[in-house]
Amino acid sequence: VIFKAYIDRAPAETDMELRIGTVAATVPKGSGMVLLKNLYLSCDPYMRGRMRDFRDSYIHPFTPGETIEGFGVSEVIDSDNTDFRPGDFVTGMIPWEEYSLIRQPDKLKKIEHGRSAAPLSYHIGLFGMPGFTAYVGLKEICCPKEGETVLVSAASGAVGQIVGQLAKLEGCYVVGSAGSKEKVKLLKEKLGFDDAFVYKEEQDLVAALKRHFPRGIDVYFDNVGGEMLDAALLNMNAHGRIAVCGMVSLHGVGNPIGIHNLYNLVFKRINMKGFVQSDYAHLMPQFLEEMTAYYEQGKIKYVEDVRHGLENAAAAFVGLFSGRNVGKQVISVSST
Ligand code: NDP
Repeated sequence: VIFKAYIDRAPAETDMELRIGTVAATVPKGSGMVLLKNLYLSCDPYMRGRMRDFRDSYIHPFTPGETIEGFGVSEVIDSDNTDFRPGDFVTGMIPWEEYSLIRQPDKLKKIEHGRSAAPLSYHIGLFGMPGFTAYVGLKEICCPKEGETVLVSAASGAVGQIVGQLAKLEGCYVVGSAGSKEKVKLLKEKLGFDDAFVYKEEQDLVAALKRHFPRGIDVYFDNVGGEMLDAALLNMNAHGRIAVCGMVSLHGVGNPIGIHNLYNLVFKRINMKGFVQSDYAHLMPQFLEEMTAYYEQGKIKYVEDVRHGLENAAAAFVGLFSGRNVGKQVISVSST
């Protein structure tokens, strides 16, 4: 799947193009390379940021005319590298193609398959970047305490569903906002949120939050920015914490709405902090250990939205920005 040209609007399927090419069937001797069969690719909102020609970011933009890349799970099918053997499963930055010759395999991470009974695709979800984002954002930025109230936006998505479940494990009262009745049902009936609401059906978000949090909000895990952030600011309790994880509501908007209620940061002595998960890499081993235990004990569930085939990859990615995905958006490229 090729990235065509930089954009300054919401991404469209036509910004990507499926092209047929060939990859060598074996790895050249002495090259140190590995040949991968790609199994699962991840669609993540941050990839929208790589579609604009903006270099002052934590990640470089895509190159027009070249293959899109993102987190993925692959099987090694040939190797000239002593660290990898055919049959190994790996995760890392994987090009959006069926087979990939990887020149710098040192950036790939071997998956200890069998460590938990989890599906391989969870290594780009629950045990991958989205899970880690939820973990560091909640634990390091929000510091939730038992009995506190927690609001999560984009709550049924890759990150949000884990934030809510982790907050429940901390003994908090958790409410999620999501874009459809189907998602709200999922949050309440499968993912254990105390309550949830369809933000698109609310005329007045400030009033909606007052209704759901009569005692106020102690923690807001913000995945969307914009109007929800503004409404949350007016409902925060003194000494509340806001983790600014992402602003997906602004991705397609030419002229984003201004935030009017920042003065509440002062009145309510709120700690509001943006973060990028990769800055917390030192917490990865502890995250994997805790999340694996939660999963094996049945304390955390994970919902995926799997689309099959590279031909559907562009549509799956674009769907993130209209809320088409129900759960973590994954592309299944081929089976093992
Ligand atoms: P999701 O799986 O939650 O998918 C995106 C969701 O965003 C959609 O399903 C939709 O849910 C919601 N959405 C789309 N457009 C809008 C809009 N205009 N207004 C409000 N909601 C909208 O994505 P992720 O869980 O992967 O990512 C969630 C957030 O976390 C993103 O902002 C992302 O950039 C950020 N992120 C940040 C990281 C960090 O290190 N800081 C790392 C990873 C992710 P709905 O139907 O409920 O509206």
